[in-house]
Amino acid sequence: MPNNKRSINSPAVLARKKRETRAAETDEQREARLRTNRERQSLARLSEPDEQREARLSTDRERRSRARSSETDEQREARLRTNRESQSLARSSETDEQREARLRTNRECQSRARSSGTDEQREARLRTNRECQSRVRSSETDEHREARLGTMRVMGARSRRTTELNLCALHYDADINYSTHPSVAIGIMDVLCNYCGAFKFKNEAPGMCCARGKVKLPALHAPPEPLSTLVAGDTSISKHFLTNIRRYIVFPNDFIWGNERREG
Ligand SMILES: [Zn+2]
Repeated sequence: MPNNKRSINSPAVLARKKRETRAAETDEQREARLRTNRERQSLARLSEPDEQREARLSTDRERRSRARSSETDEQREARLRTNRESQSLARSSETDEQREARLRTNRECQSRARSSGTDEQREARLRTNRECQSRVRSSETDEHREARLGTMRVMGARSRRTTELNLCALHYDADINYSTHPSVAIGIMDVLCNYCGAFKFKNEAPGMCCARGKVKLPALHAPPEPLSTLVAGDTSISKHFLTNIRRYIVFPNDFIWGNERREG
């Protein structure tokens, strides 16, 4: 009996069952399974410690480089083509915010990697880039070459235009996406001060909100009546007041005299 049980749950049997289940699943089921996996993974990664993240990435890198060192030219070409296709598919459906976030993450990653490297690593990186570039270019068709040079011309013009921010407020150009300029893209306000709980941007100095906990403001007094009841939000009058609060601030007589003011 125990032997039987072991054979039922043996890794080989489980793997075969998994293969069978997956072979029978519809496209939607497959997509749902992969989506759930991605969500679970990204949730798990949010809370993983730095060392664990580093170890995971280094294992990934080793596995990848092992697999790549044994692939044939055709396999390499097929892999790169699949990558390019899935990348361009993903990018064609991303929103402006997603694009901005992706580029920001790339920039941060790149600048982190570059600032922490030694001179030899930097030299090796530049050499690999040059080799990779010349390999790609030696195999490109005339159309690819033309398309690449066209893209480079557009990017060059765009970066030349966006790097000149001096007085650009006086020469606004609707074709320029100013929000991607490194001096403008300051990230989101998601850095929490450990002392006062204020949200700040990542490059703001640690002491700028409360001087590292030295400034402690007294708590605000509760507002007097009838304001206290009006801002509590738990009566119908209070809800009406909060919904129309701008009108009561701009036209306080309406509040005092109960005037009905009609739009227009
Ligand atoms: Zn603070």
